[in-house]
Amino acid sequence: MAIWNLGSINADMVYAVPHLPGPGETLAATGLERFLGGKGANMSVAAARAGAHVAHIGAVGADGGWAVERLTEYGVDTRFVARLDHATGHAIIAVDDAGENQIILFPGANRQIGEAQLGEALGGASDGDILLIQNETSAQRAAAHLARERGLRVCYAAAPFDAQAVQAVLPYLDLLILNQVEAAQLQEATGSPPEKLGVRDVIVTLGAQGAAHFDSEAGTRRDYPAHRVEAVDTTGAGDTFTGYVLAALDLGLPMPQAIGQAMRAAALMVMRHGTADVIPDLKEVLEARFA
Ligand code: ATP
Repeated sequence: MAIWNLGSINADMVYAVPHLPGPGETLAATGLERFLGGKGANMSVAAARAGAHVAHIGAVGADGGWAVERLTEYGVDTRFVARLDHATGHAIIAVDDAGENQIILFPGANRQIGEAQLGEALGGASDGDILLIQNETSAQRAAAHLARERGLRVCYAAAPFDAQAVQAVLPYLDLLILNQVEAAQLQEATGSPPEKLGVRDVIVTLGAQGAAHFDSEAGTRRDYPAHRVEAVDTTGAGDTFTGYVLAALDLGLPMPQAIGQAMRAAALMVMRHGTADVIPDLKEVLEARFA
């Protein structure tokens, strides 16, 4: 079985600045670091580190070769990452001495993925594989539709939240993963709680409170408390959680074990600075000891 992840690939350009720039101000940065980012890339790396076969469906520009190489090094199948005549998606992140930040996000090639590319990639998918989508690319609805036709299970991580984008794919979903804020936004947009929208499995992540799983067929809710850890940076915790849940489901684990493993991985993640580059592998996750 495999996970097909239609997902964003970004260069996170992190500039250290003495203070966040104001309107019209020119400011010299004192440092620059470049990291692999994008919710899609993070999820692919997490699922690959959790032991699944992950094929990433995405796009970068001529300046994105290093990001594809990095994904490959982390064990992701990058044969379906297109090189397009657009800038690679990137985030320009200014961080001041107090740790406050300001972010400019340019989606670039991530929003140029077309149906022909999807068809070519998913042509290699098998019945029972999983399609994962988020909201940082184009062609999400077309991908969900095609995947359903081919017998794949479809999972949507509803971030960054956009009511229209979620509603467009809802009819195709087997699994919906969203955080507390996104769950409230979806409820406001639809008038129903996420677990009442006809999706078989819904997971709402609750930060330090853990996560709740709603099984709409059984009509049940099960709560999973988070591990108690010293959190230093929660960036990427949600993406790591999603990648780990899907990898475990893809490898045949039942939902409670899949969520259990994902919570261990996410707990390790909040204890570290960084995103894709520091996602723990399955060995670390299984060996971790929590209070
Ligand atoms: P992100 O910060 O990556 O956007 P998110 O908002 O999508 O995350 P959260 O609900 O904040 O998602 O966190 C996802 C999972 O990470 C939680 O279900 C939990 O398992 C774990 N987690 C998050 N914060 C903590 C914490 N402070 N302590 C322990 N585990 C945590």
